[in-house]
Amino acid sequence: MSEAPAKTCIYPGCERPAVPAHPLGGPQPSFCDSEEHNALSAHQERGRRSEDEDESEPRSASEGQR
Ligand SMILES: [Zn+2]
Repeated sequence: MSEAPAKTCIYPGCERPAVPAHPLGGPQPSFCDSEEHNALSAHQERGRRSEDEDESEPRSASEGQR
C-alpha cells in the first residue's frame, strides 16, 4: 500500500518510466534512465517545441501586409 505510483519521465514526448528513487533516500528523479533526459535538456526541448508553434504566427502576419 505504501508503494508510490509509477512516475513517468517529464521530458517532452518521452513516455518511459522515471528511474526509481534511490534506495538510500532522496526524491525520485523526474526523468527516465536516458542520459539525454535531464532538467536542462527538457527545458531546451520545451523551448524548441514552443518555437515551432510560434512559427505559424509570423507567416499570417506577413500575409496581411499584401
Ligand atoms: Zn525520458
